[in-house]
Amino acid sequence: MFHKRLLLVAMTAALAAAAQAAPKPEAGATAAATPAAAANPFFSASTLQYQAPPFDKITDATFQPAIEEGMKQQLAEIEKIANQSDAPTFANTIEAMERSGALLTRVAKVFFALAQANTNDTLQQVQRDEAPKLAAHQDAIYLNPKLFARVEAIYAARDKLAADEKFLVERYHRQFVRAGANLSEADKATLRALNKEESTLQTEFQNKLLAGTKAGAITTANKAEFAGLSDAELSAAAAAAKERKLDGEWLLPLQNTTQQPAQAELTNRATRERLFKASTERTEHNDANDERATVARLAQLRAQKAKLLGYPTYAAYSLEDQMAKTPDHAIKLMTDMVPATMAKARGEAAQMQKLIDAQNGGFQMGPWDWQFYSEQVKRNEFKLDESQVKQYFELDRVLKDGVFFAANKLYGITFKERHDIPVYQPDVRVFEVFDADGKSMALFYADYFKRDNKAGGAWMDSFVDQSGLLGTHPVVFNVCNFSKPVAGQPALLTFDDVTTMFHEFGHALHGLFSNVKFPSVAGANTPRDFVEFPSQFNEHWAQEPSVFANYAKHYKTGAPMPAEMLKSIKDSGTYGQGYATAEYIAAALLDQAWHTLPAGAEKQDVDKFEAEALKRYNVDYALVPPRYRTSYFAHIWGGGYSAGYYAYLWSAVLRDDAFYWFKEHGGMTRENGQRFREMVLSKGSTMEMDAMYRAFRGRDPSVEPLLETRGLKTPPAGATGSSGASK
Ligand SMILES: [Zn+2]
Repeated sequence: MFHKRLLLVAMTAALAAAAQAAPKPEAGATAAATPAAAANPFFSASTLQYQAPPFDKITDATFQPAIEEGMKQQLAEIEKIANQSDAPTFANTIEAMERSGALLTRVAKVFFALAQANTNDTLQQVQRDEAPKLAAHQDAIYLNPKLFARVEAIYAARDKLAADEKFLVERYHRQFVRAGANLSEADKATLRALNKEESTLQTEFQNKLLAGTKAGAITTANKAEFAGLSDAELSAAAAAAKERKLDGEWLLPLQNTTQQPAQAELTNRATRERLFKASTERTEHNDANDERATVARLAQLRAQKAKLLGYPTYAAYSLEDQMAKTPDHAIKLMTDMVPATMAKARGEAAQMQKLIDAQNGGFQMGPWDWQFYSEQVKRNEFKLDESQVKQYFELDRVLKDGVFFAANKLYGITFKERHDIPVYQPDVRVFEVFDADGKSMALFYADYFKRDNKAGGAWMDSFVDQSGLLGTHPVVFNVCNFSKPVAGQPALLTFDDVTTMFHEFGHALHGLFSNVKFPSVAGANTPRDFVEFPSQFNEHWAQEPSVFANYAKHYKTGAPMPAEMLKSIKDSGTYGQGYATAEYIAAALLDQAWHTLPAGAEKQDVDKFEAEALKRYNVDYALVPPRYRTSYFAHIWGGGYSAGYYAYLWSAVLRDDAFYWFKEHGGMTRENGQRFREMVLSKGSTMEMDAMYRAFRGRDPSVEPLLETRGLKTPPAGATGSSGASK
């Protein structure tokens, strides 16, 4: 996942633009005269390499004053731009906006990174206080009539501009219109109120979900109930219980998805059912963490917002500036795949029921049994044992000899770990990135282990965006939720985890290779249905033979993975794709259902709405629940993927199609990598995505490679692929 949190980073070019320029006097910095402000590390650009955040000086107390002052400064800058007497030009208006808000961007990027990856009560309170103010701040910019008049004047004369400037002006103009710049004053006031409420509800959703997920952990004082877990996992479960003052017990924390990794191992059927229910009902207990009223109002509110802005539904509004353009295009991509996908999933279920019957199980499989028997079928069929496989995926080796190694082969870059750059938590690691010619180019942070104060899933974002205008280098980070080993034990990953690591690093590469002038269009600041393309594309290299052989070595002996196990991993590549694709499509269609509610719709009964929507799209199959049910679907209620969860599949079409281009042109070569870097990864959002893709591929994307890769049609000889992890 690529996190575009809050409107602040999601839509506000002016804000996202306002990156860390070389230290310069900032307008309105008078407040820095007070002693408290003078000591605030955000009030001036960081003096660390590439303006890396000074985490040794940043404390919880520094965020709120810096956010407040940052908004004040940016508003003053915006007022100055809007009220100047000079005729509007690209330089005095658009470029000036790109330069504005340096302090706010500096603090907001760090604040939202920590609010997701390392939160606490203080940060949550700041988020509650500031989120609605930030939404209002954005409105104050986009609903400023004088500023919009200047943008319109430049837009009208845009044909005289350079290509990247023209594209940027069109983007600004669209953003202003979409933010309500053309509305009457009364409608603007209504929109402001809706935006404020939306941001408050989104924060409320995130905080309840974190609490509900934490509370949903299952515990036992009877070790037998957790039978099937490895000794290392049991030690981790005991440590997790101890951390919550449950000495002598064992605790399994919930992951963000419906299905939990432990389901594959737990031999006690009642425990599996308990874990499944804890997961699916985590935010539906009619208590303080119940999300249903929150999400029902969010859906209704977004429909109201769409109507106000002149769109039939929120999805229509949301997809207009995406590569897909309309909800119909997005929905069709998925519904076209429903028959083959559901048939494959039902086939997988039948195979498992046969196994259960052969073992005289005497029961009909439930959804909580799927992973467990799937694992057994996999073991029988492919002789794959996850606990054995894991021993070949030691985290540090996967990172350096796999992820970094692949990036070196394709793009020539190298990495050096830095221990002198401050971090926000001891588990976080920092690497300096060097280009093919040996020149230092960027910083990369990695925060891989699960923590109770970290949101679920995996994502990438930046502390500093690249910009030629501001002279900034990329400072990007990856956050994951891999199981943390007990002290002294190696961190062993599943192959899914390995794929996630490659995925998130694919996002990182998008940020690292950015080579644009304007910060608001740098790196991964692209439409959502494109942004998952570089990340999913990078997953493919995890299975490239020369890469795999370089990192998949036994953690104790260093021996390469036995040929048979490797063959099994490859052969099993499309196994389970019925389930994986079905659970994803169910969630993505649920997202579209919620966001195609017409404007006047009543507040919905969440449980009833969900059931009916799944039925309508023929994905109501009890054995394959959606990857996220409505009440804990963070992508669409708390993150930046509202009406956009389909984007993973859309991007996956590009991913597999682009990978086939590599196959057709000699595979993993430096030359091919360089071409991809120059034509795709360096371009950010400086042109239309379909044109960018066409230039690289030589034609429009085709869905065929994806269907073949997932085994949803007869594959040609030699086609292999990875499943999409980290969704
Ligand atoms: Zn992603």
